[in-house]
Amino acid sequence: MKFLLTNDDGIHAPGLLALKQELSRLGEVYPIAPDRPRSAAGHSITLHKPLRVTRVSLADGSPGWASNGTPSDCVVLGLSDVLGCKPDMVVSGLNPGPNLGEDLTYSGTVSAAMEGAILGLPAFAISVAGEEVTDFAAAARFAARLAEALTSHSLPPHTFLNVNVPAVAEKEIRGIAITRQARRRYKGRLEKRIDPRGREYYWLGGELLNEGSLAGTDVEAVQQHRISITPVHLDLTQHEFLEEMKTWKI
Ligand code: MN
Repeated sequence: MKFLLTNDDGIHAPGLLALKQELSRLGEVYPIAPDRPRSAAGHSITLHKPLRVTRVSLADGSPGWASNGTPSDCVVLGLSDVLGCKPDMVVSGLNPGPNLGEDLTYSGTVSAAMEGAILGLPAFAISVAGEEVTDFAAAARFAARLAEALTSHSLPPHTFLNVNVPAVAEKEIRGIAITRQARRRYKGRLEKRIDPRGREYYWLGGELLNEGSLAGTDVEAVQQHRISITPVHLDLTQHEFLEEMKTWKI
């Protein structure tokens, strides 16, 4: 079993190392990740400058590859000749911080798994859904369990998994929930401020506001201290509305 391991927090992020060490029990792990933090990079790719790859040593002395590209670039690079072998699975994480609801569209962690699915490999993204995450052990162990499950179960085409592990002690985790994406949006998103030179600037942020029922969602599962697994499909078409829209007079 060969794993392509990536993340959006950079090759030296502690979450990547924790995941690498657990997945190593199941097979060979090939870490390839951005050379700097690229959280919220989304599914961006690099088209207008050279992509570089450098051999690096992780904190435990094991080898990895750092790239000046995005998380999605790293998956593409890893599946070309960089690793010297073809991986069997793409794993992205462990991301410190939740990737729930609408976060999926901004997340570099999730997009790397998406790239794996586009390239035809089983793939999942995994995050620890807390603000100040220091302990990755429980989530890393669960990632190895899930990776094992993915060797005996297959995913449909163009499908990957988005996993969020609640940031609580392992004994407080109340099982697994297979979930759907919640609907959330940011409230008070943009803050306008004045810099020391008197010029205006903006800062993106804001509070998250849930929309609609949370029943069966990733957000609800994490609130209930359950590990959320959402099967995500890459077809963004709104199939129900497609037929109705054909009746529009345009
Ligand atoms: Mn991140």
